[in-house]
Amino acid sequence: MADCIFCRIIAGEIPSNKVYENEYVYAFRDINPQAPVHILVIPKEHIASVGEITPENSVLAAKCMEAVAEIARQENLEGGFRVISNCGKDAGQTVPHLHFHILAGKSMGEKLL
Ligand code: AMP
Ligand code: ZN
Repeated sequence: MADCIFCRIIAGEIPSNKVYENEYVYAFRDINPQAPVHILVIPKEHIASVGEITPENSVLAAKCMEAVAEIARQENLEGGFRVISNCGKDAGQTVPHLHFHILAGKSMGEKLL
């Protein structure tokens, strides 16, 4: 998707602070961190949000979760971390390319659930 900011990051057209990459997944530091560690994990194929996951593309969501676990080891997040994916307007999604936020490095008291 030529006009998608995260597709352009994957293509190297927009700079990013890479944390992890494999055949399926790219991960980089959030430009506006909400915790000492704030990493975004995205599939290399454009999927708009969790709401667009299908039987045909769900392997990419699974690959993102594998990457979350690998990044948690790589970044020494043994104190714990939170994974969030905002989906759509009411959840405040601002970039329409599926992404999982990894938040860590502080105690997160403001739980919704
Ligand atoms: P969301 O609001 O859940 O859709 O999350 C989008 C996230 O992307 C926000 O936390 C932004 O700070 C982050 N973001 C937007 N543009 C960039 C960029 N160029 N590099 C890194 N993070 C970005
Ligand atoms: Zn995209």
